[in-house]
Amino acid sequence: MPQKDEKLLTEPSACGIIQKSKVFFPVPRTGVHEENPMIDHYGRKITYLRLSVTELCNLRCRYCMPEDGVCKKRHEEMLTQEEMINAVRAAASLDIRKLRITGGEPLIKSNIVELCQEAAAVNGIEEVCLTTNGTLLPQLAVPLRQAGVSRLNISLDTLDPEKFRYITRVGKLSDAVSGIKAALGAGFDKIKINTVLIGGFNDAEIPALAALTQRYPVDVRFIELMPMYDSGDFGPDAFIPYTVVTDTLPELTPAPADGGVAKLYRLPDAKGNIGLISPVSAHFCTECNRIRITADGKIKPCLHSSDEISIKGLDYGQMLETLRTAILSKPRWHGELSYSERSRANRNMNQIGG
Ligand code: SAM
Repeated sequence: MPQKDEKLLTEPSACGIIQKSKVFFPVPRTGVHEENPMIDHYGRKITYLRLSVTELCNLRCRYCMPEDGVCKKRHEEMLTQEEMINAVRAAASLDIRKLRITGGEPLIKSNIVELCQEAAAVNGIEEVCLTTNGTLLPQLAVPLRQAGVSRLNISLDTLDPEKFRYITRVGKLSDAVSGIKAALGAGFDKIKINTVLIGGFNDAEIPALAALTQRYPVDVRFIELMPMYDSGDFGPDAFIPYTVVTDTLPELTPAPADGGVAKLYRLPDAKGNIGLISPVSAHFCTECNRIRITADGKIKPCLHSSDEISIKGLDYGQMLETLRTAILSKPRWHGELSYSERSRANRNMNQIGG
């Protein structure tokens, strides 16, 4: 096996942040900040929208999408930039404060910086975060930060170049590492490394991945592999619980919760936290505060449900009402999830956004 590539990561440098400057087309402000935070039928306050901006990706992660990519949909089937921004405005008017841009790979979208800038300018949106595989961050980290993205989640499942190529089918570890370096230098408020825990693939790398939090100001989050519709190549042994991390790292101590779904821990002398996310072994549906919109304009009230409500072609007012209805239809929990009881979402993760 080749040498680990972790030395490629460097210390961050300071970077001046340019304020939001320009909205690319006028965004009416009416209707924002209605006094009606959305509480669903189970008492959960919905404050977080995950917006997928494309199904396409420049990698082909084995647990996320099929090898031949996706059947590219017609342009007319996908949300336009204006519809995406209208959806964000509608969400903000229902008291959603946090927005995550995801995909597919959001950074392959040619208008991604403009989209983020417009989204960050929507009244009521307090935080724009973005999830990426990192490979295009060398060009885009600074423009995204300048556009108003404050937090990045960067996926990284291994520090081994051969294993990286295997899991992504086409990617180069050095591209992802260069992206993380670029992000560290671009002045984001927070950078999290997302690692999908895969038994027999990266469980032996838990100490090396966790140690990134001691060397760099990043959080590392281990996420249980979710049995999606077509996360094909993995047998039952790949689905390991988050407790593998606490068993492997007895030196972890609990860290204060930050309101997210991860259980937080810290290594001695670390600069960032270790987050453990357990959608399979210990679901957190009672704390779920999120709603998703796919790139083809389907609201998904629950990640693992087949329920979808379309907003494609709707105007702002119709979107607002549809979003309200969708939030009220959010199920209590996502149902049993295991190797044999797979997600009821009729999509792979690249078509939802994670
Ligand atoms: N392309 C971006 C990326 O790689 O982060 C954003 C989209 S990706 C669908 C978002 C997140 O979903 C990634 O962190 C990825 O690892 C995670 N993901 C995809 N399929 C998964 C699965 N079956 N189980 C757990 N996490 C998964």
